[in-house]
Amino acid sequence: MPSTASIAPDNKDRPSIVGPDTPGPPYPLSIQSKVVPGFGRGSSELNCPTANIEEAAFEKLNLSTTGVYFGWASVHANTDKQDREFHLSEKQEQSAAERNVVPNFGHDLGPDDGVIYPMVMSVGYNPFFKNKKQVGEIHIIHEYAGPFYGAHIKFTILGYIRPEYDYVSKEALMQDIQTDIQVALKSLNRPGYLKHKHAVECK
Ligand code: ADP
Ligand code: MG
Repeated sequence: MPSTASIAPDNKDRPSIVGPDTPGPPYPLSIQSKVVPGFGRGSSELNCPTANIEEAAFEKLNLSTTGVYFGWASVHANTDKQDREFHLSEKQEQSAAERNVVPNFGHDLGPDDGVIYPMVMSVGYNPFFKNKKQVGEIHIIHEYAGPFYGAHIKFTILGYIRPEYDYVSKEALMQDIQTDIQVALKSLNRPGYLKHKHAVECK
């Protein structure tokens, strides 16, 4: 059931760094997924593209708390010719067709292939968009040359930033996303978090 998220508190009261100096249980949480199409709102409406992960990978994570997480992620070209299927809902299928999503399986990643960058991950129902189903979507804090639908994403979650809120306006949501990015960058820039950057071991 979708949560009844409360309206976000004032953005200026947010801490600039979160979590202990060294991540503790249940972190690090590492997993791999194919990048699947969502509803296309990240880039078009929020100026923040998010790589949506497969339902099965999301379920494996078994996260009971919705909200925004942070960690490291890398995207890899998918060279497995048998791995071309997307398991999408009818609505996702329709949205992808309308937007003319043509998966390139990460073959245009060039020098970004396999490079590890900081990330923020949203887990939940996106109350602002009134989604019915929980999803996991990752914004990698890096400017890629283009989309990479069908590629593999490997990521390690190292901590939790904030709960999921509803928003009075899209601008307020966009402002919180920018703050999440700054909080993630600052929180990851500590020895206890930097040491996990190259220790991504996926289930
Ligand atoms: P969708 O709803 O289909 O996920 P988005 O608007 O959220 O649409 O765009 C997501 C796509 O943008 C990702 O699947 C990925 O291919 C691409 N992309 C480009 N840059 C990034 C980035 N920095 N972080 C995440 N995805 C990115
Ligand atoms: Mg997305």
